Amino acid sequence: MLELSTPVQYVKGVGPRIADVLAAKGIRTVGDLLHYLPFRYEDRLNPRGIAELRPGEMASVVGEVRNSGLFRTRSMPIFQLTIGQGRAKLRCLWFNATYLQDKFKPGQLIALYGKVEEDPRSRELQIIQPQFEILGDSSDGENRAEKKTAESLEIGRIVPIYEAIGRVSARWFRRIIRTALENLTPELPDPIPAMVRAHLGLVSPHAALWNVHWPEPGESLQDLQSSRTPAHIRMIFDELFFIELGLELKRRQQKAQTGIAFRLDDRVRAAIKKILPFHPTAAQKKVLKEIAEDMQKPYPMRRLLQGDVGSGKTIVSFEAAIIAIENGYQVALMAPTEILAQQHYFSARRMLENAGYRIVLLTGSLESDHKREIRRHIAQGSAQLVIGTHALLEEKVEFANPGLVIVDEQHRFGVMQRLKLMKKAGDAESRRATLAAEGTEARTESGPTGSAEPDVLVMTATPIPRTLALTLYGDLDLSVLDELPPGRTPIVTKCVSDDQSPKVWEFVRKQVMAGHQAYVVYPVIAENEESELKAAIKMYRELSGKVFADLKVGLLHGRLDAELKDQVMRMFQKGELQILVATTVIEVGVDVPNATIMVIEHAERFGLAQLHQLRGRIGRGAAKSYCVLMTGGKITEEGQKRLDAMVRTNDGFKIAELDLELRGPGEFFGTRQAGLPDFRVANIIRDAQLLEAARQEAAAVLAGPNTEISSEEISRALVQMRARWQHTYGLVEVG
Ligand code: ADP
Ligand code: MG
Repeated sequence: MLELSTPVQYVKGVGPRIADVLAAKGIRTVGDLLHYLPFRYEDRLNPRGIAELRPGEMASVVGEVRNSGLFRTRSMPIFQLTIGQGRAKLRCLWFNATYLQDKFKPGQLIALYGKVEEDPRSRELQIIQPQFEILGDSSDGENRAEKKTAESLEIGRIVPIYEAIGRVSARWFRRIIRTALENLTPELPDPIPAMVRAHLGLVSPHAALWNVHWPEPGESLQDLQSSRTPAHIRMIFDELFFIELGLELKRRQQKAQTGIAFRLDDRVRAAIKKILPFHPTAAQKKVLKEIAEDMQKPYPMRRLLQGDVGSGKTIVSFEAAIIAIENGYQVALMAPTEILAQQHYFSARRMLENAGYRIVLLTGSLESDHKREIRRHIAQGSAQLVIGTHALLEEKVEFANPGLVIVDEQHRFGVMQRLKLMKKAGDAESRRATLAAEGTEARTESGPTGSAEPDVLVMTATPIPRTLALTLYGDLDLSVLDELPPGRTPIVTKCVSDDQSPKVWEFVRKQVMAGHQAYVVYPVIAENEESELKAAIKMYRELSGKVFADLKVGLLHGRLDAELKDQVMRMFQKGELQILVATTVIEVGVDVPNATIMVIEHAERFGLAQLHQLRGRIGRGAAKSYCVLMTGGKITEEGQKRLDAMVRTNDGFKIAELDLELRGPGEFFGTRQAGLPDFRVANIIRDAQLLEAARQEAAAVLAGPNTEISSEEISRALVQMRARWQHTYGLVEVG
């Protein structure tokens, strides 16, 4: 009998060579093989009658080969095959398919799958380039018994269709998976606690594995195609449940650590009030309350603050900073770029310095003497708010007394990546503790507590649907800023071709003459990068020298040295530049409320999230803002969808959902390394509801034994969870 952990070579029919092909795709065990699911199913029990086919539909048809042959047209050879069912006939065409020449013989039974079309001239129905399978071919040298199995697996039933891997065809998969199932031990333990199974009505693992590959005759084809059969649901839930169990455990462990219980009394409240330059929005009040409550608890805060561009996250983070500082702790604010760090530094000084807080900026471009001086202030505790880039603050900066770490715009970090980072930080922490114990490192223990973990607040501008956020950032608590500050007029977005550019420049000029400022954004810095694209440097020359020769135009791109970048940004901020020609370096966080117009050239080249981030740089003041998406050159269908979405809506959540749909989860979140778990059977968009259910059930399980669930069941689930986390993510330390 086979176990799920048995190496796949032990399945009859899998030789060493096939095992190698499978291993390259991560299929090493029987369990891996059985998790290789069909990507669609064909109904060969009730195949479609040719007479009832309609143009435009996807259909699977079983028929008999009547004739076939190769035609040579002027442009290419075309292979034509006619199949029949009684008197009805259907034509199939393949282009450039000389290889099919000797494949078919009259009388063979064949299954086809493809899109039915009407031939424009003859009005007859046809399928172009269908997928096909020859059924029960008598000439391929198989003996009778084998032939019979093959037939029973391939006709007269719903048939699973697998994606071929190299030389392992769909047909091969069908046979080896079938053999594996037939020899699979019937005693598969179910690691999901009975309580959870009952809540969701889950079928047993054994039944799920069988039926997901070989559905019962009555199964709905639609449910199969959309992965909604009981078998699919069991397998998907199974996968999500153990991920969520790990995340939930992580969350609980974090809460079990010693943190700082900040005090929030009237004095601290008054200090917060003093710095506010405006009335916070209801959403800002709500999230500050959530953050403040968390900070008062005796365990370390791990919270994600999610809010669309311009929703006012910065001020909320400053409020949190004051709570920590007023309690005698230091705060670190990490930004992804120097420009952003600088900008935070300026806003912090504007808002906090009058109140007497000591703020320092630590950036890579500072001279080393100056840097050393600042580090000293940080180590001695005289700097209260330390602002820098991620890189800089992750390096060896010693804080006298860290209480709160704020991480801005970390939208490219997912949970898996962060778990790995935290592990590193944890290692450093324990190393330091050992050193201190041995007396080899003098550590000033001036802090009110000493060894407590600082709170962490992560801010992101990538709006992610809630359930997805809970998985991607599953180890964090979530606060959402879902309201923009008042007095904003929605941005008007237009899409035009760049042959309209004279008109666009005229419009920009009018806005600037009225006292506003403008961004003009390009996808590349210099021309030679991608020849047909307009580049920032060249267009800067053209715009500053000709089109806007009488206006003050600046240039900003990633290759300028930091000091120059800074200077340009500062001039734009002060209004000394009227037009800023830039690349996407301005993408995140830049805040100049007087800038009301943005022209994005080659807008078709940008991703949806990026366009939305860019556009978020305008519409920050009371004046009406305009975003002009200029296109140049060919636009793909997907590109057009992106542009349409931008014109249609300003809502970051809607844009994120569409983006997710267009690109799929992997691309949407960056690469796989961006921290999305690598799912085998689940799809977090399609399965969002199951994900939410898995999260709730995981929480219920870890709440501890009760009449519905025993401690044995809980520990069995945890053992399984650890094995899976280790197997799949290489994260041993979870749990
Ligand atoms: P983001 O969430 O993109 O980081 P910011 O914190 O930069 O947004 O805020 C965007 C702009 O809105 C800033 O100019 C900020 O001063 C302003 N702002 C934030 N909160 C409010 C508020 N409650 N009322 C008025 N303006 C606000
Ligand atoms: Mg911001």
